Formats: sequence, structure tokens, C-alpha cells
Amino acid sequence: MEGEMKQSKLGRRLLLFPAPFHGHINPMLHLATLLYSKGFSITIIQTVHNPINPTHFPHFTFHSFYSSLLELYSKSPPSDPLAFTSAMNNCSEPFRDCLSQILCDATAAADNEPIAALIADPIWKFAGSIAASFNLPRMALRTGGVLSLLVYLSMPSLREKGYLPPQDHKLDEPLPELPPLKVRDLPLPLLHELLETVVHEFKTSQGVICNSFEELEDSSIAQVHQILPIPIFPIGPLHKHTPTSDTNYWAQDQTSITWLNNQAPKSVLYVSFGSVEAISRTEFLELAWGLLDSMVPFLWVVRPGMIQGTKAYDSLPEGYLEMVGERGHIVTWAPQLEVLSHPAVGGFWTHNGWNSTLESICEGVPMLCQPINTDQYTNAKLVSDGWKIGLKVEKKVKREEIVRSIRKLMLEDGGEMKSRITTLKEKATFCVKEGGSSYTSLEKLTKLLLSF
Ligand code: UDP
Repeated sequence: MEGEMKQSKLGRRLLLFPAPFHGHINPMLHLATLLYSKGFSITIIQTVHNPINPTHFPHFTFHSFYSSLLELYSKSPPSDPLAFTSAMNNCSEPFRDCLSQILCDATAAADNEPIAALIADPIWKFAGSIAASFNLPRMALRTGGVLSLLVYLSMPSLREKGYLPPQDHKLDEPLPELPPLKVRDLPLPLLHELLETVVHEFKTSQGVICNSFEELEDSSIAQVHQILPIPIFPIGPLHKHTPTSDTNYWAQDQTSITWLNNQAPKSVLYVSFGSVEAISRTEFLELAWGLLDSMVPFLWVVRPGMIQGTKAYDSLPEGYLEMVGERGHIVTWAPQLEVLSHPAVGGFWTHNGWNSTLESICEGVPMLCQPINTDQYTNAKLVSDGWKIGLKVEKKVKREEIVRSIRKLMLEDGGEMKSRITTLKEKATFCVKEGGSSYTSLEKLTKLLLSF
């Protein structure tokens, strides 16, 4: 029940404040489940946008606050990608009031359970200063990869060296300190101001929790450590620690699994562009025809809102479903973790959101990479040119090229890529077990949280 305090065994409470996007809420909920399993009581602070249903997590306490701008955005999101950040920035006063109330109630409560710290998503640019005004220790959760965090932290030096703002004639120059990235992979100038505020939130935190692991991003983790003189805790993949941590709070179409059960091992291409990204109608139609013409079985997530300005499902070509027949299955939201771990799935066409990338690695599924926004370009580059566990698909690709890419991934390029991703899968499985790198890092994090 909202607001009611549910206590656990350590007698210490943590406040968690996720950014209200599925790809940010999911890892925060996995972290909450993990820290709860370590004995902390958990309070989640959330907004009116993409609210988590508290009844799905009866062992956590929930507090919500209201913001008129965020509600307006929720009802009809404008196409400007930065509109959301101004709606989010409007939440600072409601957040301050909410936090103040939680701290007051905790002091007055008979159980005298101290609040150890706030763990916030650094997209909330006011969380740090507000927590500091209450003398509350604050940790930052990095829900994306560490290389992209390193890119954000390196922006001042990239600017000094003349790589930023990117110039057309330099786009293919490699960035020596950030392999395998080139100038063209750097964040778009439109995002720089937002990223600077995010960096400030990281820099002023008491420590950074990362949903990544040493064996995957050791050199980036070491470089971030050099720039940020605060503890860094790579404890990912967060969803691998606790097998019971089912954090999905959107209705999942289970016909995905019944359909997969009838497919041959490793034969199916899973296609999904995550929870927020949209493509143009032309790109959508090319993809639809490419999937059909490839002759490869596919499971495709066609989310409402994934085509700019229309209802995606209604935009499928006339007679398309009949032409696809039993060879394809289309859903509006899939149980992605279950899908990727299904033996019938042999490839993942992804936008390379960090969660999708990590989930694919954890299940050993090679990827076709089509980044759409922000850090997805960095992640896609790592997958294709760094770890070499996927193939990059060019932007605005035509159906013939889509067919070639799909057939290359699913039918030709198998061997070495599959053995590399299988090795990473094993490392991801091992690192969260006793003695593994993420397990050990989690022990250190627990100690720090108890010391506050
Ligand atoms: N997801 C899901 N079902 C779907 C599509 C996505 O459960 O049909 C989940 C996926 O497992 C991942 C998250 O949504 O955890 C998407 O996060 P990601 O970082 O990949 O992309 P974003 O949505 O942030 O762009």
C-alpha cells in the first residue's frame, strides 16, 4: 500500500528514485530487489509518468508525487526529444516536498529505522542538490553502459582536442582514448547540455553503481575511475543476481512463447526497438517487407507509438499478416528476457538500448544493430566492432539490404561471432556468483551503504 512502511532485517532504509522510462525503471527495480535481498528496506519514489503498480512489489514502500507538466507530457508527448527533460526539471519542488515528508515521517516513526541513502537516476538534475540540502548521502545509478558514461565524462577533453563539435571532414577519425569509437559516434550537439547536467550529478554523488561488469568493460571502468575520484561499483548484469526478480510491469504477450515453442532451435530472429524509440513509416514498411522477404522466422514487437505520428500496428501493409502466415509472429510487448533465453531464438534485431544489449549478451544471442538515439550508437559500435558479437545495419536501409543482413546473421556468419558471445555469456553468468567480480563489488557497495 502506498506510503505504508515495510521494514526488513537490516533496519536500514534506502530511497530509490528512478527516471520514469521503462529502460531506466527496470534496472532500478532489479537493484531494489537485489538490495532488499541484502536486508535493506526499500522505498521507491516515483512520478505520474509510467507509474509502477505498487501491488506488484508488496515488499517495497512507494511514494508518488505529482507534476502538472509531467502529466501533460504523459498524455500527449510532443516529438521534441528534449521536451521531456524540461517536464522532468519541473519536478524539483514536488520531489523536495516528497523527500522532506519521507524524512520527517522516518524521524517521527516508532521503529526508528534510519534512511541510509538516496539512490537516484542522474537524469534528475536536481536530486543531488536536494539530497545534499537534507544531508542525505546520494548514490547515482548508471543504467547505461560504462563506455558511454566515459564518453560523457570525456566531453571537455574531446572539445579541447577539437573532436567536438564534430566536423564533417573528421567524422571517420578514430578516437584513440575511446576505442572502438570514431568521431561520428559521439553524442549529437543537441544533447550536450543535458549530458553536462548528468555528468554533474555523477561527479557530485558519493558513488556510482553501474549495470555492467568488469569482464565486459574493464578498460572503460578503469578510465572512469581515473576521472571520477569516487567509488565505482560495477555490479551488473543486475537482472542476473536474483532469479526471482521479475520487474516487468507492462502486460506481456505470452503468445510470444507459445509461438516460439513451435519453432526450430536458433531459427528465429527477434525484432524489437525497446520501449520509447520511434521510426518513420517508410523505415517501418521497409523492415516489414525485409522480414517477409528474408524467409527467416521472426518474432516482432510492434509497439503502439513506434511509428512517428501513427498507430504502428495499423500501418502494416494490407494482407501482410496473411502473407507472413505461421512464419512470423507480431506482438505489442513481449516478455523479452524469456524470449531471448528461448532455445528457438538465434538472433536479435535491436536498437541497442543498454538493457537489450546486456540481456542479449546474457543469453548469448548475436545482434543486428540499428541504433536510433543517444548512447545506442556507442553500444552498437561496441557490439559490432568492439566485442564483435553482432553486425551493424546502416541507417535508412532498404528492404534488399535488410534481407541480406538478416540472412548473413542467421544463416551465414554464425561460427566465430557465436563462440565470442557464448564466452561473454559465461562471464556474465559467473560474475554474479560468489567470488565473481560483480558479487564482490556488491559486497563492497553493501558495506558503503551501511557506513552512511
Ligand atoms: N522490453 C520488454 N518487452 C518488449 C520490449 C522491451 O520487456 O517487448 C524490455 C527489455 O527487456 C528491456 C527494456 O524493455 O529491459 C528496454 O530497455 P532498453 O535499454 O533496451 O531500451 P529503451 O527502451 O530504454 O530504449
